[in-house]
Amino acid sequence: MDLQAKAIDIRKDIVTMIQRAGTGHIGGDLSVTDILVDLYYKQMNISPEQLDDPDRDRFVLSKGHCVEALYAILADKGFFPKDELVTYAKYQSKFIGHPNNKIPGIEVNSGSLGHGLSVGVGMALAARMEKRPYRTYVVMGDGECDEGSVWEAAMAGYQYKLDNLTAFVDRNRLQISGTTEQVMAQDSAEERWAAFGWNVISISGNDMQAIDDAVDLAKHTKGKPTVIIANTTKGKGVSFIENQVAWHHKVPTAAQAEAAIAELNERKAVL
Ligand SMILES: [Mg+2]
Repeated sequence: MDLQAKAIDIRKDIVTMIQRAGTGHIGGDLSVTDILVDLYYKQMNISPEQLDDPDRDRFVLSKGHCVEALYAILADKGFFPKDELVTYAKYQSKFIGHPNNKIPGIEVNSGSLGHGLSVGVGMALAARMEKRPYRTYVVMGDGECDEGSVWEAAMAGYQYKLDNLTAFVDRNRLQISGTTEQVMAQDSAEERWAAFGWNVISISGNDMQAIDDAVDLAKHTKGKPTVIIANTTKGKGVSFIENQVAWHHKVPTAAQAEAAIAELNERKAVL
């Protein structure tokens, strides 16, 4: 499968979903798409046929407000019928603005930021205690790393030497109210995670091959958990959304959505 083409198709679904519903977190969705595509289509041992398989890999979207990207992927992979997504954000729909575990394929409710890594630490520790081969993946935002609970989980991951745990930080350098450096400076993220004892891999986070290589490297790292600092572009793929703090939570007009999809189609055509 051409993962880059798949990522563009998923981005188109995200734009459509958010425009139709009138709500969503388009900037963070588009920044994290490549990471989720590599995990769901290449790396993780997860499928609709193995929802209750105790050896399935575990995934936690800790930056839960970017659930539209996850919905688009789960629908495409057949965890639920794609047409159910027309109810996204509608009254009484189960497809709400954050992950909830009533939806097939979603392990845990998330999006109160700062909780997902702690849950992932528990899942990884459980795998060891039960002698199961699954790996646990957690995706956080960089703004999310302002939460103190992230660092409590980081300490626990190191303490228990959880080499079956891989975390991502979607390092797009923006959060809801400004740049990360304006709100709560975190450079160097790499040095911070290394100081907490983690194996740190810093990559270009919208580069599918770099993502895939980093995940492979993490699998072969023993004795400590890995964090992949994915240096991404918020709004990646749609030029008028890229790197604009206002697009954290802004909704495209019908005309903007049309322009966004046209640009994504152009990008796909030259892959
Ligand atoms: Mg961010």
